[in-house]
Amino acid sequence: MTRLIFLGPPGAGKGTQAKQLSHSCDVPHISTGDIFRAAVAQQTELGKKAQSYLNSGELVPDELTLGLVRERLAVEDTEQGWILDGFPRNVEQATFLDELLQEIEQPLDCVVNLEAHDEVVLSRLIQRGLVEGRSDDTEDTIRNRLDVYRKNTEPLIDFYRNRQKLVSVNSNQPIEKVAEDLLKVVEI
Ligand code: AMP
Repeated sequence: MTRLIFLGPPGAGKGTQAKQLSHSCDVPHISTGDIFRAAVAQQTELGKKAQSYLNSGELVPDELTLGLVRERLAVEDTEQGWILDGFPRNVEQATFLDELLQEIEQPLDCVVNLEAHDEVVLSRLIQRGLVEGRSDDTEDTIRNRLDVYRKNTEPLIDFYRNRQKLVSVNSNQPIEKVAEDLLKVVEI
């Protein structure tokens, strides 16, 4: 059973590592960012509402985000576990998730905190902006996403440390080395 959360600043490698691990564990990789980007691309109702937040690097309001996660964790493919990437992103979301996981009787295994220095995340995000053309990987938006991370998401490190769920991985290293260290700490 694999039920993991990936935590860390934008550019720490959450998506890359979560995707790889989800393949090796054969559980779905659930990225709220991917879900929002797909909704924006398809211009669904959700996408229209979420678009401005994504473009500015702000968090999409919880009233649009929580229901979406509840629905996604109710899909059958999550029965053998899941890897959450980019959710929760604030204390309210983490509290909601705690309650939801109790309700659906799916206890969390652990929270992987990917630690990366500012210079490392900045250069990765700028590189990704050039390669993938992600509209929120521009300098102003990157700066705002880092501020939003520090203010809203970083407190979750203590939130999960207090619950004895936190493990940390040094993500300032090459992708392959991070993946190797990750496998050691999650003990899968
Ligand atoms: P990500 O791909 O995880 O970096 O997310 C890209 C953008 O999607 C973020 O900057 C937010 O605007 C939005 N987003 C993703 N996950 C969440 C979340 N859990 N809560 C609110 N907004 C989110």
